[in-house]
Formats: sequence, C-alpha cells, structure tokens
Amino acid sequence: MSLYIVATPIGNLDDITFRAIETLKTVDIILAEDTRHSKKLLNHYDISTPMRAFHEHNETQKSTEVINDLLAGKSMALISDAGTPLISDPGYVLVSEAKRAGVKVVPIPGPSAIISALSASGIASDSFSFFGFLPSKQTARLKMIQISAHLDETAIFYESPKRILASLLDLQSVLGDERVVCLAKELTKSFETIKTDILPNLIEYLQADDAHQKGEFVILISGIGKDNKVVGEAQLDKILPILLMEMGASKAAKLAAKITGIDKKHCYQRVIEL
Ligand code: SAM
Repeated sequence: MSLYIVATPIGNLDDITFRAIETLKTVDIILAEDTRHSKKLLNHYDISTPMRAFHEHNETQKSTEVINDLLAGKSMALISDAGTPLISDPGYVLVSEAKRAGVKVVPIPGPSAIISALSASGIASDSFSFFGFLPSKQTARLKMIQISAHLDETAIFYESPKRILASLLDLQSVLGDERVVCLAKELTKSFETIKTDILPNLIEYLQADDAHQKGEFVILISGIGKDNKVVGEAQLDKILPILLMEMGASKAAKLAAKITGIDKKHCYQRVIEL
C-alpha cells in the first residue's frame, strides 16, 4: 500500500488542499509528529482517522514497524506539525527506507514556509539554496553565514525567535550594511510581516519592540550582485531629506537619481511623499 506525505497549514487552517483532507480521511493511519497538536487540525476538518506518534526521537525505531504495516496492506499518511513533512521535519529515514522496501511514496503537496516566504519576498526566486535552521552556536552560525555570503543566488534559513536578533547581528557582521535581506515572520497568521530591506533597518525593526522578535521566522539573503534596487530605495530614503535641506525638490530628485541610479521621476515622487 502507499505512504502519503501530506502537507498541512503553516498557520492558517484554511491552507490545506482538498486532496490532503481526502487522503487524511481515507488512509488507515496518520503518522503525526505531535498527535495533540495535529488533533486540532483533524477536528477542524472532521477527520477521525487514528493517529500514531512519529517524531525525530522515534523515527529510526518506528520506521521498520511502519514499513511492515505498509507491506501488510495498510495505507498511511505522514504529517508534521506544520507545512511539508521532511522540510526541517522528520520523515527522511522513513521515506528512504520505504522506497528501498518497494513501498509507493506519494507526495500530497501544499504549504511550506520556504516557498511562501520566497514568493512574497521580492528577492530573486530563479535560483536559491535552502540551509534549514541556522546553527544555535555562534561559531557554527558564522561559518554557515560565511558560506552563504559568497552565493550568487538567494540563501534561505529558518530561525527561532530566541535567536533572531543574534542571527541578524551575525549576518550584519559578515555581510555588511548593504546586502538586501528579507525577514518573513508569522506567515499566513495574524501578525504576518514580510520586510525586505538592508540589515541595519531590519535590526532596528527587531529592536524597536520585543513583540517584533516573537513568532516564526524565515530569513532570505539576496545573492551577490542581486536586488540592488532595494539597496537603492533604502539609500534614497536616507539621502533625500539631507539633499532637501540644501536644495529644491526638483534638483534634489535629479541628484538622488544620479547617486542611486533610480529613475528621476520615481525620485521626485519620493520627494513629494516625504
Ligand atoms: N515543515 C515546515 C515547512 O514546510 O515549512 C518547517 C518546519 S520547521 C520545524 C519550523 C520552522 O519553519 C520555524 O521555526 C520557522 O523558521 C519556519 N516556519 C514555519 N511556519 C512558519 C510561518 N508561518 N512563518 C514563518 N516561518 C515559519
């Protein structure tokens, strides 16, 4: 029988596909990372399929038992607490062993924080590397940031609220003040915030209010030489007020356009908005 890898919401309970609900209703057993947590989702959709605990601490030991049940004819669905299983979540050991045992593995696609963040970041999405969680120890974290600093494609990390400020400060120490970074917080939830800016501004945002450091985060770093437009915009906001103290609106917009490389009309528009 088949093993279904089912994506579930990353915050908003409505973000689940018809196929995911149908699969969860019809399989014999749902393997869940945290059965108490997933109970809320199952209750919301009237799904009464029995659940079994399947998490990082019992994955290796449980995989053999699960595969034996699959080979005996049972169908199962693997879900995690949020998003797509196996993406910084348990399931790799099970899927690789299931495939080796000849079990059919079927993905039921849906939300994942990486893709949601990337799609709304305004950072180049044509090519990217996903590194999972930034390491909790600073030495290892700096090493990983240094690796990502040389990429000419977008680098994506997950980060916990406990370390979000420390990590952005480490990013600034390696990448400097000019690199464009996106902080995607609480995606699909009430306090969803997606800020794409240079690091000093993002750090200022986190420090402005303790609440800004709460929640779940994805960090996206633009590749070398990419997304200069955002740097230009941030530069524009810094220099325009200074220029306006010395000269008229039209001259300030003209000079700002020369400095930032941004279109003169757009610079003039910003002058009016100030
Ligand atoms: N499997 C999940 C997925 O497909 O995105 C990821 C699970 S991982 C254990 C949890 C981490 O994903 C969080 O610490 C955070 O970095 C990121 N994440 C999950 N949901 C998120 C959300 N709604 N907004 C921002 N980041 C989120």
